[in-house]
Amino acid sequence: MTLPPTPRFDVVVVGGGIVGLATAHAVARTGRSVAVVEREPRLANHQTGNNSNVIHSGLYYAPGGLKARLAVAGCAETVAFCREHDLPHEVTGKLVVATEPEELPRMAELARRGVANGVEAHELDQAGMRVHEPHVRGIAALHVPSTGICDYRLVAEKIGELVQKEGGEIHLGVTVARLVRRASDVVVRTDGGDLLATQVVACAGLRCDELATASGADPGIRIVPFRGEYTGFRPPADQLVRGLIYPVPDPAFPFLGVHATRGVDGSVHAGPNAVLALAREGYSWGTIRPKELLATLTYPGMVRLARTHWRYGIGEMVRSLSTRQMVKQIQRMLPDVRAEHLEPAGAGVRAQAVRRDGSLVDDFLFVEQPPVAGGRGGAGSVLHVLNAPSPAATAALPIGREILERLTGERIAPLGAA
Ligand SMILES: Cc1cc2nc3c(=O)[nH]c(=O)nc-3n(C[C@H](O)[C@H](O)[C@H](O)COP(=O)(O)OP(=O)(O)OC[C@H]3O[C@@H](n4cnc5c(N)ncnc54)[C@H](O)[C@@H]3O)c2cc1C
Repeated sequence: MTLPPTPRFDVVVVGGGIVGLATAHAVARTGRSVAVVEREPRLANHQTGNNSNVIHSGLYYAPGGLKARLAVAGCAETVAFCREHDLPHEVTGKLVVATEPEELPRMAELARRGVANGVEAHELDQAGMRVHEPHVRGIAALHVPSTGICDYRLVAEKIGELVQKEGGEIHLGVTVARLVRRASDVVVRTDGGDLLATQVVACAGLRCDELATASGADPGIRIVPFRGEYTGFRPPADQLVRGLIYPVPDPAFPFLGVHATRGVDGSVHAGPNAVLALAREGYSWGTIRPKELLATLTYPGMVRLARTHWRYGIGEMVRSLSTRQMVKQIQRMLPDVRAEHLEPAGAGVRAQAVRRDGSLVDDFLFVEQPPVAGGRGGAGSVLHVLNAPSPAATAALPIGREILERLTGERIAPLGAA
């Protein structure tokens, strides 16, 4: 009896979140064969399907960094993609609101970043901000017209459809255990058998460091899962928010602070906060995986991070467990909100890369495992995406093209460009 040959592809992508799918789509557009391997029974089940659904403008990010370049491009491209495929979206604009005088210099710095990144932003006084959001309290604000909203689960599913249309394959419910590099290809070892790939891209989100280590790479970071919980606004409080209302972020953290967002379905929620998740996919306090938690708590980077930011961490935990404290935080920008208006509205878990010295990786991070001796033209290499937090959903389409270029040297035009 002859066994069927092991399936072979030019590129295998691990992870069916929006980054993996956008990468597979960029590869498929060049005519190369591609397969996406996703361990869940459906696409976009983790960060991509559980986030704020904001199309970020690119305002916040350090000029010259990957986040700035790819988010600005991604903002326009995501809107165009939603328009082309008739997916729900809206360019709502947003307000970044300063509630205390000490936030004004940080707000001015954001405006400077906006200019450097080519993002339009206008400074507003109290009267100006109330034109956009009549119920907001603050002393000044930045208005960013290009920010929008969409549904990233739908965007990811549509990209998945396009991958298949271009001849790519999507394998659901298959877990990749490790990647073995050889002279001219990579063996993708899964719980459903092996696949062969000339090159592999690992976009494994909350498990990217685990897969890198299992594949013999030194990721240099550990993923620390930070849960972000959302609070829904019941009527009549949902009328207090027209679009997107953000605080001025604290530059010590890569998170943007609890914001109020009206989604494409019209519902309003506030969040996400940032509490340590007790498992990689720890969507509630009740989901605890002792082995994973112990590994997080004993990681030197986590110990150092906790030592520096314990006060902030405890504050976030208290706000997570006490509605009264959460209400107080929301009331800083929306004083008319009351506890009886609020209800839990789900959570997402961020895959945040932390270095051994306790610093949080701010920019997107790609680490290449080069081909073993003898590999030519990139054959046998693996590219690990080791930090793709917000705004990577916004930036996913340009990230996919960036990764394609790193793999093959080939540049392709944005979708829809002539
Ligand atoms: C609370 C929250 C709010 C956010 N808000 C926004 C926002 O408003 N705007 C924005 O642009 N970004 C936002 N983000 C960030 C955005 O969601 C992420 O940057 C983006 O979804 C990352 O996509 P990904 O494909 O890298 O990861 P994921 O979507 O997590 O996908 C990774 C996939 O890999 C799979 N996988 C893991 N290990 C394996 C394995 N061994 N074998 C096979 N498959 C595997 C997982 O099952 C998963 O489906 C937010 C994130 C969170 C958590």
